[in-house]
Amino acid sequence: MFGFQRALQKRIEKGNFRRLSLHADLADFYSNDYLSLANHPDLSLSVSVSGSSGSRLLSGNSPEAMQCESILASHFQAESALVFNSGYDANLGFFSSVPQRGDTILYDELIHASARDGIRLSLAHSFSFRHSDLDQLEARLKSAKGTVFVAVESLYSMDGDLAPLLEIQVLCNKYGSLLVVDEAHSGGVFGDFGKGICHQLGIENQVFARLITFGKAFGSHGAAVLGSDDLIQFLINFSRSFIYTTALPPAHYSHVISAIQFEGIPNLQAKLLQNIRFFRSHFENKLVISDTCSPIQIFKFPGNDACRTAAERLQSFGFHVKPILSPTVSEGNERLRICIHAHNTQEEIDRLAIELVNIHK
Ligand code: PLP
Repeated sequence: MFGFQRALQKRIEKGNFRRLSLHADLADFYSNDYLSLANHPDLSLSVSVSGSSGSRLLSGNSPEAMQCESILASHFQAESALVFNSGYDANLGFFSSVPQRGDTILYDELIHASARDGIRLSLAHSFSFRHSDLDQLEARLKSAKGTVFVAVESLYSMDGDLAPLLEIQVLCNKYGSLLVVDEAHSGGVFGDFGKGICHQLGIENQVFARLITFGKAFGSHGAAVLGSDDLIQFLINFSRSFIYTTALPPAHYSHVISAIQFEGIPNLQAKLLQNIRFFRSHFENKLVISDTCSPIQIFKFPGNDACRTAAERLQSFGFHVKPILSPTVSEGNERLRICIHAHNTQEEIDRLAIELVNIHK
């Protein structure tokens, strides 16, 4: 047996073997389509999709791409914006290139795999700090060398909790370090027209870089890094996941613009918040660990088998609910991840909540 086959075998034995599956038509409590824009009739990609023919620095640039970035910068109130083909590419490209040898990256221990992969490729020193632990972050800031980057998410995707962003920004100011905020799950959901939590808190101009993804609440695909002109010029010159890949099709950039400017966003945000509150009203707070206004609501179900069985039971009742198993989360922290959407009906939320309470008994 080769090493990779032994690794597969181990996964099967531990009950965490991953499979691609096609999904039956169940009530959606698992997608990241929080505002229900992915299939919105006013946002369908009606233009014929021609390929971009190359990378942005070669034949793949287009007026659509340039216009999209200029609109993104003004919409999200940043000096500049650069579109990557996905949030994964953006995090990989940012963290692997911007922090230099001799610099330091301090990252929240729960930060997304894409940022961690970028950090692994970086020549900078890197240290994690306990999840949202300001004391440990400050201790690390005191001894960090070179230019220091602090990497956090505004809304954590596996816990559904918000980062203490204002306090983190205060610490970054105190120690002259640069804050990088991944708004993958908060873009669209929070702030005026979904401009995200940094914008909602009024720190968008203090934060060094923001990542907004379009594949979740905005119902499209791709991502943008928002920051200074210097940062964007640097990424165009040095970020390998931007340079060495075929650009998105030109029509796709137009779709992104339609999605972020979609006039129905405030109504959908209000509907989503109403659904989150309705869902939460069924439980005592201690049952769910997520923030009360988060579209991601987490129920802990320790053990891969117990967690998978609970998810299968909910699926058999007609709900798409995903178990989050180890190694995606650490052993003992397995959980059901319930995603609430603007399109969920009160009736299906009610039925799901009742089943969740039954399963917990
Ligand atoms: N950052 C976070 C926090 C995410 O949850 C994800 C996706 O799951 C990404 C980045 C990657 O974004 P994308 O799906 O656009 O590659």
